Amino acid sequence: MMDPRYEVLFEPVKIGPVTTPNRFVSMPHAIGHSYLMPNGAIGIRETRAEGGWGIVSMQLSEIDPTSDLSGLPYERLWDDGDVRTHAKSNERIHAHGALASIELGHTGIRSRGISNGYPAQGPSVLPTLKPEMPLMARAMTKEDIRRLRENYRAATRRAKQAGYDIVYVYAAHDASILWHFLQPAYNRRTDEYGGSFENRLRLFREVLEETKEEAGNDIAVAVRFAVHEASGPKRITHDGEGRAVIAALADLPDLWDVNISGWSRDSGTSRYDAEGFQEEFVSFVKQVTGKPVLGVGRFTSPDTMVSQIRRGVLDLIGSARASIADPFLPRKLREGRIDDIRECIGCNMCVAAETIGVELRCTQNPTISEEWRRDWHPEKVPAAKTREHALIVGSGPAGLEAALVLARAGHHVTVTEAREELGGRVTREARIKGLSAWGRVADYRLYQLRQMANVDLYSGSALDAEAIAEFEANHVLLATGATWRRDGAGRSRLTPIDGFEDVAATPDDILDGMEIRGPVVIYDDDHYYMANALAVDLAVRGLEVQIVTPLPTLAPWMAQTLEQPRMIGELKSYGVRMHPNTAAIGWANGALSVMRSDTSEEVPAIGGATLLSVTVRMPDRSLSEALAARGIAHRVIGDADAPGTIQSVVFSGHRNARELLGQEPAPGHFKRERPTLFY
Ligand code: ADP
Ligand code: SF4
Repeated sequence: MMDPRYEVLFEPVKIGPVTTPNRFVSMPHAIGHSYLMPNGAIGIRETRAEGGWGIVSMQLSEIDPTSDLSGLPYERLWDDGDVRTHAKSNERIHAHGALASIELGHTGIRSRGISNGYPAQGPSVLPTLKPEMPLMARAMTKEDIRRLRENYRAATRRAKQAGYDIVYVYAAHDASILWHFLQPAYNRRTDEYGGSFENRLRLFREVLEETKEEAGNDIAVAVRFAVHEASGPKRITHDGEGRAVIAALADLPDLWDVNISGWSRDSGTSRYDAEGFQEEFVSFVKQVTGKPVLGVGRFTSPDTMVSQIRRGVLDLIGSARASIADPFLPRKLREGRIDDIRECIGCNMCVAAETIGVELRCTQNPTISEEWRRDWHPEKVPAAKTREHALIVGSGPAGLEAALVLARAGHHVTVTEAREELGGRVTREARIKGLSAWGRVADYRLYQLRQMANVDLYSGSALDAEAIAEFEANHVLLATGATWRRDGAGRSRLTPIDGFEDVAATPDDILDGMEIRGPVVIYDDDHYYMANALAVDLAVRGLEVQIVTPLPTLAPWMAQTLEQPRMIGELKSYGVRMHPNTAAIGWANGALSVMRSDTSEEVPAIGGATLLSVTVRMPDRSLSEALAARGIAHRVIGDADAPGTIQSVVFSGHRNARELLGQEPAPGHFKRERPTLFY
């Protein structure tokens, strides 16, 4: 039964001519399935509608070919040929009682201007908003502006035809032409579209008015607008022009969807932003407009959601990541199953999937993107044909995920863990400063497993091959993890470094509680979070820390998770000295001898009392070999198979369990999206 405190979240909200069944909105966000992959994309959206989201949104959809985010998997509504796919998606969303919305937009000077041969276009001649690309945008003529407005109208007509309930006018994230005209740093025009605030707002207002006209009394019109920019020379701020825009257009749209810009701030990770972090910027909006207000803030807790509604901050709760991590969040709340919610950990592996151009992935939800192609449901596992016993050795994210899938299928599952605490790497890593939310990966799974009568969890129980044989389990899964290398061999250099093996400490040592003496020299040939998170953790303990890395920048994978600039700022703020482009040659007498990675020129050694080597993790194969020698069939899963991210090992646990159950097609034989052949 639903907790009465959360009833307010299930109230309908009137948005112009339509009414949502509740206050939960699965936001427009990149899902890594482009217009070429409609089946997988529909699978994601339909699952959310089934899970109880009142509005399910289509990701950014380009209105015409001059908006060109080529290389990134976005959507299109260019012409009538695109309508059918959108209509099918909406049919599946409506079947579950949810409303469907579409974020129609033109990406202006954020466009690449490569794939279609039309240069990017914007208010003025400007570099495209991707400084590393050697291209400029052209200044739009009056004729271009007229065509853009007409194309917005046409896209709205198509959206209506496709059955959408809400159509967006998109002006956020520094990725909308309407925003580019508004932003004084971009708009250098001297005609009626440039100069004064009203002039810079003109195109935005025109498009909004015309979209309203096209929408008529049939569908609602939402505006997505970033009320605050976190940085920039002529920032639009929540107490400046951000507020002025809301005041000027106040009751023109049917819904205000407000956030902050750029994307890295809008999608802040748990390492840097608390849940509900956008409140301070968007809380004014409801005072300026009478229309419903929708906002985001990595909401996972229903109490935070209720609080924002009760205090008059928002009317509708928007979620991208919470709906990725748990598409059934609203339904679980309605059914009074709050403890069953799989909370987003705020790691942005979902964002990284999009930025590298692959289908959406999630650390907490391995079934995302697999709804259609593998028939995986986030909540249901088909029953096993016969009830068997599965023994899982190791209780890290891979072992726990496999255990959950097998237990849900009805098998008797035993999980044994050598350590006194369960949860493997996530329980350990969650103790590092900034990473506490990552512990949710173990918390969710352990809570679920503890409710099940067919599951035994044993900690403090290290098994060898003989002990495993004694279990006489039908299935054995080794989820025994991996340990950090000590010898300096890493990702950019595959061979050991002189002097490391005997003296270097590793992240495992630190997580085991080893006393560390400063100054500390961290050698990072891993390039994700571990080295820099430990650097901060050690600096907070009062140690002097330096971080050395052979690549030109620190932790480039964190550029994919949008965290890199903030991480570098964080290291600076704690006084951590950084040495990028610096390769280690050897460690001797308390000093790391180094050279420039690009020129191989030797540079002054970096001295310290402790060398911390953060390079790669390696699995220990001996248990698997001992089982093989006894003829005991088994699977090796997670980090013990291929050390990776938490996301990749949770996925491994899930996939291996489904394979074992016979519910997974042979490798590579999942359903495929196939382009049409016209020759
Ligand atoms: P993964 O990320 O693949 O789940 P982790 O490193 O998080 O791997 O977890 C592996 C867990 O397996 C660790 O907690 C480790 O203590 C445990 N483990 C390793 N070897 C054994 C063993 N022989 N018996 C029981 N537990 C083991
Ligand atoms: Fe949340 Fe991480 Fe999943 Fe993204 S990948 S939804 S941030 S848990």
